[in-house]
Amino acid sequence: MYRLRLYSVRQARAFEWIYKRVEAVMVALDPVFRRLGYNRVERPVAFVEKCVKTLLFDCRMCGQCVLSSTGMSCPMNCPKQLRNGPCGGVRPGGFCEVKPDMKCVWALAWDGASRMREGADRINEVLPPVEHGLTGSSSWLRVSREIAAARRTAKDAARQTLAEAFSGARAAEPAAAPLAEEPEKAVKRNSGV
Ligand code: SF4
Repeated sequence: MYRLRLYSVRQARAFEWIYKRVEAVMVALDPVFRRLGYNRVERPVAFVEKCVKTLLFDCRMCGQCVLSSTGMSCPMNCPKQLRNGPCGGVRPGGFCEVKPDMKCVWALAWDGASRMREGADRINEVLPPVEHGLTGSSSWLRVSREIAAARRTAKDAARQTLAEAFSGARAAEPAAAPLAEEPEKAVKRNSGV
């Protein structure tokens, strides 16, 4: 497991790409999830997420995944569970002061982030503290649901703006445009002359 965790950090760029694709698929599935009910799909999705991420990242299912901000190194593996950088006790060679056989999670995070396309920017973001109420829930589902909801709201707002613009244009328009005169030939034909 530990070796796989190290491997995942070395492959952080590939995982960044995969994560973006998974997110896109999850967002696209929003209508299906809404039809089935998010509550119903929570357990199976959380189960799959747990299996995949435990294997690859030693995930603890905190429910607020920050892997893309931490170079694919899970901060929940830090014995002090620090979410915003290492403590002052990192040993020479980047090892943990509590578990001397283990590389500091944040030393790994820095390495992984430097391999990622957006890692260098994201690792500098200040992460919120862990909300324990979300432990065990699916981060994938929650994040994709939030993105899909935000997109729906933006789409509704755009539709509303368009509808208002049309009704405004109609109000400014003359009620009926004057009809053009009919050509003489047509008048004769209609009257049978
Ligand atoms: S940050 Fe949380 S959800 Fe993400 S891998 Fe670590 S424990 Fe799992």
